[in-house]
Amino acid sequence: MGNVNDFKFLSERGFQGLVKGLLKELKVYGTIVKDGFPAFGEISAPEELVLSSTPTHLSAKEFFFPQREVLLKFNIKTAAFSPVIESVDQAIIGMHPCDIRALSLMDRVFAAGTPDPNYLSRRSKTLIIGSDCMPDDYCFCKSLGNSEAESGFDIFLHALGKGFLVRTGSDKGRAALLKYAKLRAPSTKEFREFQGLCLKRDSSFKAKVDAPPAELPSIYAKSDESKVWQKIGAICTGCGSCNNVCPTCYCFDVKDEVKASLAEGERVRNWDGCTLEDFAKVAGGHNFRKTRAERLRHRFNRKFRYLSSTFDSLFCVGCGRCSRACLVKINIVEVTNELVSECHNK
Ligand code: SF4
Ligand code: SF4
Repeated sequence: MGNVNDFKFLSERGFQGLVKGLLKELKVYGTIVKDGFPAFGEISAPEELVLSSTPTHLSAKEFFFPQREVLLKFNIKTAAFSPVIESVDQAIIGMHPCDIRALSLMDRVFAAGTPDPNYLSRRSKTLIIGSDCMPDDYCFCKSLGNSEAESGFDIFLHALGKGFLVRTGSDKGRAALLKYAKLRAPSTKEFREFQGLCLKRDSSFKAKVDAPPAELPSIYAKSDESKVWQKIGAICTGCGSCNNVCPTCYCFDVKDEVKASLAEGERVRNWDGCTLEDFAKVAGGHNFRKTRAERLRHRFNRKFRYLSSTFDSLFCVGCGRCSRACLVKINIVEVTNELVSECHNK
């Protein structure tokens, strides 16, 4: 929650001035209401923003790692090619703590090994303005220690009844506030209001994992033979929605698309998903994960076990999007708790 000295107060008018200032120089995206649901969208005025909402259906990963993007263009006749990196200066307003945590994991993924210039270019041109959220029945970031953002943002907004308490997380954030907003020290009343809202939010989480985060990799390691995988594999439709909505799923497929002239083409990257049937299929038709049960076991293990040895972190941030999106109601917290219970009763 922090100390009063960590915060400044920004009035509603000051916030409007900040957003209007950013709109003059950047593409600005933020949390809005689309078809009655919270979503990220481009805005043209501060009034369009709806902060402190429940989670958006899709995460913000699209702004850094689009669902489809051209990586290079080539000419077959001349064998010439040129890389394509499309990135613009942008701000994303209203990212919740779990999404900020997810973005910091994606930063590590795309910087590791051969760094990904497309992702990194977009990332370096983005101003992240975080905001508090309101958990729904699926949110469990608190169980994984991600309910508060300590870093990974440029500016973070805590909405009060009137105005905001603000934290800055980078020089870029400080410069934007200096340029477009007037801040002052918060009053004791404002800080008390903030503390009250934090407690209210903290007590609103309903979904909970029944084991501490540090235990989850070993619980998953002991659960390869669990009956849970057959049970959820029998109802999974293999639609891939859980991969698409997840802020930390980053698998992709790369294909060359040749134009009808047969002279030119583009190398295109599209999101892929480990729950899709073809994901682990190789030349000759062999599929390393033939069944939906195997594919789900793989996905859950990627989130709670496999990547923790490479990145020293779980790769689930607790946003609950995969459970929310699943038409057959496969719920990541319920599945994990079944494994926890099986392990504790062995
Ligand atoms: S696995 Fe599910 S709950 Fe975890 S980060 Fe991905 S979408 Fe969110
Ligand atoms: S969203 Fe549900 S049904 Fe679709 S692949 Fe994921 S677990 Fe299976």
